[in-house]
Amino acid sequence: MIDLPQQLIRLGAQAGSKADAITQVAALLSAAGKVAPDYVQGMHAREEQANTYLGLGIAIPHGTPETRGLIHETGLAVLQVPQGVAWGEGGETVRLVVGIAAASDEHLDILRRLTRVLADEKLVEKLSTTADPADIQEALTGERPADAAPAARDLPYSAQVTLPNPLGMHARPATGLANLVRSRGGRVRLRRDSGESADATRLMEVLALGLTRGTPLTVSADNPDTLSAVTDAIRAGLGDDLSAPVDHPAPRREPEWVPQTVGATVEGVAAADGLVVGVTRQHAPRPLEVRDEPGDPAQDAARLDDALAAAHAELDILIEEVGARFGADKGAIFRAHQELLADDGTVQDAVGRVLDGHGVAWAYQSATGERIAQLQKLDDPTLAARAADLGDVQRRVLRHLLGLQEPEVHPGGPVILLAPDLTPSDTARLGPGTLLGFVTAQGGPTSHTAIIARGLGLPAVVAAGSGVLEVPDGTPAILDGVAGRLYLNPSEADVQSARERQGVLEREREAARAARFEPGATRDGTRIEVAANINRAADALPALEAGAEGVGLMRTEFLFLERDSVPDEDEQEREYRAMARALEGRPLIIRTLDIGGDKEVPYLGLAREDNSFLGLRGIRLCFERPDLFLPQLRAVARVARDHPNVHLMFPMVSTLEDFRRARAIFEDVRRELGAPEVPLGVMIEVPSAALIAGALAAEVDFFSVGTNDLTQYTLAMDRLHPQLAHQTDAMHPAVLQLIHLTVQAAERHGKWVGVCGGAAGDEVGALMLAGLGVRELSVSTPQIAGVKAALRGRTLSDLQALARQALTQSSAGAVRALVRPQEPQEAGA
Ligand code: PEP
Ligand code: MG
Repeated sequence: MIDLPQQLIRLGAQAGSKADAITQVAALLSAAGKVAPDYVQGMHAREEQANTYLGLGIAIPHGTPETRGLIHETGLAVLQVPQGVAWGEGGETVRLVVGIAAASDEHLDILRRLTRVLADEKLVEKLSTTADPADIQEALTGERPADAAPAARDLPYSAQVTLPNPLGMHARPATGLANLVRSRGGRVRLRRDSGESADATRLMEVLALGLTRGTPLTVSADNPDTLSAVTDAIRAGLGDDLSAPVDHPAPRREPEWVPQTVGATVEGVAAADGLVVGVTRQHAPRPLEVRDEPGDPAQDAARLDDALAAAHAELDILIEEVGARFGADKGAIFRAHQELLADDGTVQDAVGRVLDGHGVAWAYQSATGERIAQLQKLDDPTLAARAADLGDVQRRVLRHLLGLQEPEVHPGGPVILLAPDLTPSDTARLGPGTLLGFVTAQGGPTSHTAIIARGLGLPAVVAAGSGVLEVPDGTPAILDGVAGRLYLNPSEADVQSARERQGVLEREREAARAARFEPGATRDGTRIEVAANINRAADALPALEAGAEGVGLMRTEFLFLERDSVPDEDEQEREYRAMARALEGRPLIIRTLDIGGDKEVPYLGLAREDNSFLGLRGIRLCFERPDLFLPQLRAVARVARDHPNVHLMFPMVSTLEDFRRARAIFEDVRRELGAPEVPLGVMIEVPSAALIAGALAAEVDFFSVGTNDLTQYTLAMDRLHPQLAHQTDAMHPAVLQLIHLTVQAAERHGKWVGVCGGAAGDEVGALMLAGLGVRELSVSTPQIAGVKAALRGRTLSDLQALARQALTQSSAGAVRALVRPQEPQEAGA
């Protein structure tokens, strides 16, 4: 039995011609997801072959057999044209156009009912003029509908998956999913345990489910092959890098600078670092005035098409400009806007409203407005922040529909901009020349606006509350992006001291850059090597140019991710060799495959695990899969024959046996290939490894602490969990205790300890780790100069005293509070 929801019935329609009526009824089917938009051509073609007039003012247009493939689900739609539309050469007039998309013979029942209707002239008259869609529903389906629409059902084949994406199902993976389903031609639905579901090809429906990382989902499809392709792709992250650090702002920090006397302090959420002094300026974008002015539906639909195309073209330019100024990842924000722009569900909904007799700008505003409201309601702040993106897209399209120019975003001189919220597009057009920093009343630190601000290097504070919008233009102010505060009407002395602090920070940054090639060392000359974490040979030169003294972690799994087959031994050798050569003798630490946990490689066909972070991950997987492990070890041994700078390191070691077994396998390979001995290390990233560091230290050549995993396993907090993000801090004394044990054990055996987890690149982390006795810090390329400068500012004995104190604290916050900035006399001297 086919159902006929109200959305598939349009009462009181007008149609200029038979072709127009067919186009309208096809649009209803397509807007409801029953057919692909091109199905309309099949309906016109069918009408050319044979007139579909049934009798008594009823016609049943439907597609040709060749276009059956464009049907997603059998369905019918009814267009009621009370004034009638001329149908065939025979002079018939049609008042009920019943569009049919029949994938199988389920529609025969409807045809039977229609023939019964045909026998009842009075009923036909009633249906042709009624204002109650339930009359039509009852006549065609035999049932008067209950009030609520029935929930969409799962499709015949289904499976459970857990969403792995660190940032949840945001626009990019949702678009990847929609494209995958479209390319396979089947239908796929996603359903949450709570019952809400979405068609996988409808971007906005999928976003509105609010799927955060770790959400269990039922995926259902109309055929088993599509189901397995889709579930594999979801598990692999739909193109998202599942191990990439999330661009979250730093954990809340103590203010580095505090004023003495200010008029008022506005507290918000720190979104981008920096300290500036200036005057405020309000920036309130004028709301776009949209009136509901119905026009000709066909012309309006064409205008919408033009506006969407113009908006797409503008975004192309923004992607390029923003990409060139701030990096491709920032440019990609606007690629996501293009995806929101192209969402079929939204566009069809807007067109549906035009066909309902509304003006096109009003129709687009209301169709997008409903979706923005849905996104704003989501619990997850990252997904809710996408409402701002859709709002930005909405304004862009409306401007084209209303014929308005892009508004100027020139605040008129370097000012601290105060705004209700800023769109990502506005933020991207702001720049250091026009602006000192900004404060928004709304927004969150994971909004794209905040991410762009960090790329611009401007201090920013978000979610400061509506009070900030009352601040008069020209109010003297100091904006502290580190503390998340705006100080209003500061005293002259505070302005003076903030400017001094600003000057110090600026000079420090410059000095750090200028001294980036100096060897990493504390002020008294104790060597602390500062190396880079890079994954590909192509990143080696930029790392050296930034001051890297070697590579402390090459994550080899990146050679396996982002492709669909295993790189063979030769290919791996080429990559390792290129990296070893580029480093010109500086150390290169190659880490063996660390797959599992959040790093999935779909084509390896690994079994699902309930607790993947606690399962066959890293070295444990390599033991199970010699087909992966041996070629990798052989490739490393071949490179080591020519490059003595090569070191080898094993991830996820949790027992002494793990290391012995890995070493034995490598030694066999090495001897067989006639390679020299290679320094062998283990990562300390499981608490058990730190606790048996004494036994391990007797046998390894070095340790490298993976603070990302060590923190997650010690605190039992998923390293990518958005709500736990500000607590998963490696400066927790429990984590520091484990590192302390590791260093003591290594020192007893004359071995060295490095750190390659995120804590090494954070200034407080670098200082604490050096104080604990770590002698190599491997950090991301942009952090190298800052880490070296921080080390140069302190003597080893200062750092040791700090570390001793840190070990006795009771929280990460207390540890961080121990590190105060150096007195200005240092930079001024
Ligand atoms: C770590 O765990 O800190 C580490 C460096 O390894 P990865 O981040 O690749 O798990
Ligand atoms: Mg790790």
